[in-house]
Amino acid sequence: MSGSDVLHGSGVGRGAVVGPVARAHPAPRVVQDAAGPADAEGRAAAVQAVREAFAAVGEALERRAEQAGGTIAEVLGATALMAQDPELVSQVVGRIEGGQAADLAVDRAVAEFADLFTAAGGYLAERVTDLRSVRDRVIARLRDLPEPGVPALARPSVVVAEDLSPADTAALELDKVLGIVIEQGGPTGHTAIIAGQLGIPCVVRVLGASALVDGTEVAVDAATGTVVVGPDDATRARVEVRRTALAALATQTGPGATADGHAVALLANIGTAEDAARLTGAAVEGVGLFRTEVLFLGRTTAPTQDEQAAVYARALAALEGRKVVIRTLDAGADKPLAFVTRSGEENPALGVRGYRLVRNAEDLMRTQLAAIARAAKETGGQPWVMAPMVATVEEAAQFAALAREVGVEKVGVMVEVPSAALRARDVLQEVDFISIGTNDLAQYTMATDRLLGELVDLLSPWQPAVLDLVAAAAEAGSAVGKPVGVCGESAADPVMALLLAGLGVTSLSMSPAAVPAVRFALARHDLEVCRRIGVAARAARTAPEARAAALALVDPEVREVLALG
Ligand code: PEP
Ligand code: MG
Repeated sequence: MSGSDVLHGSGVGRGAVVGPVARAHPAPRVVQDAAGPADAEGRAAAVQAVREAFAAVGEALERRAEQAGGTIAEVLGATALMAQDPELVSQVVGRIEGGQAADLAVDRAVAEFADLFTAAGGYLAERVTDLRSVRDRVIARLRDLPEPGVPALARPSVVVAEDLSPADTAALELDKVLGIVIEQGGPTGHTAIIAGQLGIPCVVRVLGASALVDGTEVAVDAATGTVVVGPDDATRARVEVRRTALAALATQTGPGATADGHAVALLANIGTAEDAARLTGAAVEGVGLFRTEVLFLGRTTAPTQDEQAAVYARALAALEGRKVVIRTLDAGADKPLAFVTRSGEENPALGVRGYRLVRNAEDLMRTQLAAIARAAKETGGQPWVMAPMVATVEEAAQFAALAREVGVEKVGVMVEVPSAALRARDVLQEVDFISIGTNDLAQYTMATDRLLGELVDLLSPWQPAVLDLVAAAAEAGSAVGKPVGVCGESAADPVMALLLAGLGVTSLSMSPAAVPAVRFALARHDLEVCRRIGVAARAARTAPEARAAALALVDPEVREVLALG
């Protein structure tokens, strides 16, 4: 690869960094025509070795999960469960007993599981990386090879890999990881989510990353989604200026507000009580989205009221009186739950998901609301509680009644379906606030599966139709004087954040690592400019034109520091 080549991918976050490449250890290769053990004794020994390897990999992952905490622990725990899955192990054993070589048996059995997961789509399809990581670790152990994944780093480096499993990501020596470059994966994959959470500059889906060799200097820029190989002095200087500027922004702490003092609360999205604990001392005004389904995923029965109350109480206590918006269970479609999601729906994203689960499983909703109310009482906290995927006024009214019955004072719903956005004024007669989920709102407005990377252009929150629906919801909130938040990924985009403030959105909730850039952008623009950004973007006919129109009104220094294009 020649000097100053530029590779392109999807950036996660806004950071930029220059450093030497450290390649992850590749997964062991499987010899596809290897012969299996010749006799029964050999097969028994191979079965024993395989059982021990799966158990050892599962235990090692569990140990790491215990050390990690938070979302990282959740994903490691889920990977450990895969290594301990009796069905998977028994498939491998069956293959060895049928005469297959041990590592081939592991490879084939995992491939079958991966096919099933891929066919199931959504959350399960995204877990295929975890499954393959279990395979690679087990095979490496069987062959006495070094553990696949990132090696011990001798110096601060940019980790480059085909893909990183959650286990790899969790095992990173964070003080030595300058950036992450991934050839595969997607913006909604584990590596991207975890890197975003940790604030590490990361670019995923980088075509050509496999050609990067150990020790090569690269400049990784998450804001532009680029990896410059052998950066020249000018590129290095640019990255340094950005790094210093972003580090300075991260020290700012005040509440979110425009330059002329119009308040826009800056809140964090979390998935676990541990995520909440990490917000102690963080410069956010609270939590705008607590995705409680993380507590339910990967289980065969629902968590009990006691278990849930303890988790919610920990989160409320950690926020010490700051605002916490708890979202009730959002299961189904990309987040199936064994004990409640119906199988066999042709279009699960359009089926019994989100709040609609109440039709079949009202107990689940009542138990969760009771647990939230109990946690509030125990901690003296006052959680705001909202339901996901509400489409009608009746659903909003029903949810409000259920929540108020147990004493929840601030009840809201998410606006993720176009019908709710169009009729937000009616919805707001039933509830105290709304929160716009732009991830799903874009999916349902554009009729585009949000996990389908190849259709990412259609899913852009800059699509004029999506902007119109967000505007309709925001205008409804302003008209009746009730809060309207945004908690989809779009809130983390500083340009979009300005537009949302201009439309009348009262709070923005995002990954905590994204807050400093949004705070900075807001602080540099008057509300009137934000309004003009909204008008200009909505006058455009296409998503790229809408973003360009907005960007043209953004302060040049903000554009420069945040590399907004
Ligand atoms: C959304 O849809 O924008 C949202 C915030 O909810 P989730 O991403 O959890 O579906
Ligand atoms: Mg959603």
